Amino acid sequence: MSEECIFCKMIEGQVDSEKVYEDENNVAILDINPSSPGHTLVFPKKHAVHLSGLDDIELSDLFFAVDEVIAILEDSLEPDGFNVGWNHGQIAGQAVPHIHVHVIPRYEGDKGAPIQAIVQNESEIDVKAISQKINSKSASVTANEVPKSEPQVQEVKQETTENEEGKKSDKEGMEKNKNDKEEKDTEDEDLKEARKKWENMKIPRY
Ligand code: AMP
Ligand code: ZN
Repeated sequence: MSEECIFCKMIEGQVDSEKVYEDENNVAILDINPSSPGHTLVFPKKHAVHLSGLDDIELSDLFFAVDEVIAILEDSLEPDGFNVGWNHGQIAGQAVPHIHVHVIPRYEGDKGAPIQAIVQNESEIDVKAISQKINSKSASVTANEVPKSEPQVQEVKQETTENEEGKKSDKEGMEKNKNDKEEKDTEDEDLKEARKKWENMKIPRY
């Protein structure tokens, strides 16, 4: 707990908040200045400024809570989607120095933009050069170091059955796969359409 932190004070019950979720390690409250109906902040009870102040378990618990909050908001407010993220550091807009994840419900026709619209600071350095710069400092395994291998194709064993019942369920399964694929194709089309719309949109700079 940090004495000056408003979110720590909420956890201690010293400051009022509209709580929508709580578990052992995290809480979620409605943002007092919402970007959209249901805008929620999810944060750990432990005071930490950035993600780096949390251990692996705390990190995973936080993202479990985010997932729970999304489900709660989906059930209650039925939005059409979400933008989820956090402002890391003052320059990025972090005003409260206690890590919190913004869960912002999106509604069809809300005139919002995707998360990439936050900043348009197009780099003059090309992506390959940026990649080299990052990888020259980073100890983690990079895509360039991963040995190239043939794409792995998962073998799907289809049991063939002799009796009619078996054939019927095979047919049903194939029908389902076909429907799933059609659904996915439609989804891809929707995404392409949304991207096109966004690319043609004038996005305001703040
Ligand atoms: P950030 O800019 O990422 O630090 O976000 C801080 C968020 O906290 C802002 O969206 C504020 O509207 C919100 N906020 C600040 N004070 C309160 C409060 N008392 N209750 C609810 N939300 C708050
Ligand atoms: Zn705090």
